[in-house]
Amino acid sequence: MARRRRLVVGNWKMYGRLTSGLVLAQDIAEQAEAARPLNFDIVLCPPATLTWAIGEALLGTPVMLGGQDCHTANHGAYTGDLSPAMFVDLGCRYMILGHSERRYGHGETSELIAKKVEAAQLAGLTTIVCVGETAEELKAGSTSEIIEKQLRESLPKKVKTANLVVAYEPVWAIGTGQAPEPEDVVTVHKQIREVLGEIGETVRVLYGGSVTPANAEKILAEEEVDGVLVGSASLNADGFWAIAEKCQ
Ligand code: PEP
Repeated sequence: MARRRRLVVGNWKMYGRLTSGLVLAQDIAEQAEAARPLNFDIVLCPPATLTWAIGEALLGTPVMLGGQDCHTANHGAYTGDLSPAMFVDLGCRYMILGHSERRYGHGETSELIAKKVEAAQLAGLTTIVCVGETAEELKAGSTSEIIEKQLRESLPKKVKTANLVVAYEPVWAIGTGQAPEPEDVVTVHKQIREVLGEIGETVRVLYGGSVTPANAEKILAEEEVDGVLVGSASLNADGFWAIAEKCQ
């Protein structure tokens, strides 16, 4: 089977104000423009407040736009929430869902995440569904059990394969500077494909958690890794591009 097109995603989390965000997005877009034609996909997920401005700045460039979380409904009396359709209006193509900072920081269950995935896919977004074990679960040897449970429960029954990306993000690796060995990432990615069953070979499976320009080459040397989801290192244009380039 031909290699799946790789994908690099920058998750800016709650970082970036209007000016700094625009400068960062423009610097990344310039590097992507200079490297055209790209043989991989590149997506920035800024804070929702910057989506419109950054979307304007990215128009006509190869860099795509995504959101970091959304509601299950397209409209309604939900103070403070944002709907999938709203992100689509702003030119978003991707949506991160089930990030551990949502699961553990906001008590989101896999059942809720599955509803979000369904709504976001229906709105036309490609959903990046995050799964990963905590340090305690790793220590207890229950990684595979956790991954299987989270993945099965976080996907809706009518999942659209073409709009699905899975990100393996061990919670203990996020923002800690500690990434797993590439062979351990491969083991989990293979398991994710097994759980996905017949769609497993076509769905892109990313790795996320302390990816840096220094370790990206080693991680992306693995055919099983279809790209990376990058947090902290995506806040520096040169560093993020150095990672992105390894997706070629
Ligand atoms: C993330 O939050 O998705 C992430 C991968 O963060 P970091 O790269 O900072 O570990």
